[in-house]
Amino acid sequence: MDLDFTTECPECGAPVKASIGAVAKGQTVRCSRGHRIAMEDKDGGARKAQRSLNRMERAFKKIGRIR
Ligand SMILES: [Zn+2]
Repeated sequence: MDLDFTTECPECGAPVKASIGAVAKGQTVRCSRGHRIAMEDKDGGARKAQRSLNRMERAFKKIGRIR
């Protein structure tokens, strides 16, 4: 499970689509004008969020089985 969010390009301020998973993996995304933005998981927040998303996904699957 992943979660998309929009951030701002530090170079030109254009909206850039990124995802929690991309930040957790330290991937580089490009803004609409082609600037490269290195996603940095500075305090491990994205990895924590990714773990929470995975837990949530498992919980949803369990609920699905009960029904
Ligand atoms: Zn840019």
